[in-house]
Order: sequence, then C-alpha cells, then structure tokens
Amino acid sequence: MNRANSDPAAQLKAAVRDIPDFPKPGILFKDITPILADPALFRSAVDLLAERHRGRGLRKVAVIDARGFIFGAAVAYQLGAGVVPIRKKGKLPFRTFEETCELEYGTATLTVHVDAFTPGEPVLLLDDLLATGGTAAAAAALIERAGGCIAEIDFLIELTFLKGRIKLGRHPVFSVIQF
Ligand code: AMP
Repeated sequence: MNRANSDPAAQLKAAVRDIPDFPKPGILFKDITPILADPALFRSAVDLLAERHRGRGLRKVAVIDARGFIFGAAVAYQLGAGVVPIRKKGKLPFRTFEETCELEYGTATLTVHVDAFTPGEPVLLLDDLLATGGTAAAAAALIERAGGCIAEIDFLIELTFLKGRIKLGRHPVFSVIQF
C-alpha cells in the first residue's frame, strides 16, 4: 500500500484486494480482510463511518450478517448506540420478521427480531459493501417493519456501476470508497 497517500479513503481503497471469480465465475469479489488486519486502516474505516453521525442522536446501528457486523459494532460503540443484528434466516432465536432478497450472486432471506426497535427511534443501517442493493433494501424493509426510522444507510464500499442506490429509494446513502 502507498503510505505516502495521506487521504484516508484512498488508503482504504488501495488496501481492498480483488479476487476474480469468487464465489462464482464472473464476480469480482472485494476482499476487505487486508483492511481488517491493519490496525491503522481498521481504525480509519470505523472513524470515517462514525464521524459523520456524532451528535445526531442515533439510537441503534443495524448491521448486516456477516461482514457488516465487524464495522457496525465498532461504529455503534463509538456513537454510544446499540447494535441490532440483521441475520440470515435460522440464526436469530426470538420471533422475527423476514424478507427475501436477490444478491449479486444468489438469493438470501434476512431476518430481524420483532422487538429490535423502539417505535420511531433513529437507526443507522450499515454494511460492508453495496452491490445491487438487494440486501440493503431488504434490511431497510425489515427495520421499518420492526418500527425503526432509518436515518441513513452507510457502506464502506460502493460498486457504483451496479447502481444499488436506486433500490434504496428515498433513504440517504453514504459510502466511504467507490469502485
Ligand atoms: P447486494 O445485495 O447485491 O448489494 O450485495 C451486497 C452484499 O453481498 C453485501 O453484504 C456484500 O458483503 C456482498 N457482496 C456482493 N457483491 C460483492 C462483491 N463483489 N465483493 C464483496 N462482497 C460482495
């Protein structure tokens, strides 16, 4: 990585590793493990996701299974917010709402506990990567069904050519890195 580049987002972008044809042919997988493994980069990713929300009164950070958990829990800790896991079907123990979504490489059913939110409380939805937007759109629908009010939907990485933002409609969307 080029440490001479002092722009934190550019440093993060340079650290993302491209894995061609994973998990299936034609998909260029954006591997974030080099960011996770580097103490300065991991801190910088969490800071860039958290800073914009300081003092905005967010009560909950909803995080998407599984890579969203890693950044989302750290962001929630920084903001003094709680964490709500949005998990693949069959993983949450209490009663759930569920939504099925199309992914860039398959389909998935996401779930959230029915009592995850106090009605109307402001929620930040966070995931590692926005591709087609199907996952985040399903997660957003779950949050609203469970009574949460989405303040913003944030990603570390956005694949802009897939135009996933369109699926997120009226919600504000922010990403740290774009490809
Ligand atoms: P999508 O629903 O198409 O926006 O896909 C987003 C979800 O799938 C995120 O939780 C990502 O972790 C994962 N994902 C989709 N495409 C990729 C990719 N090219 N590289 C890494 N993760 C991906």
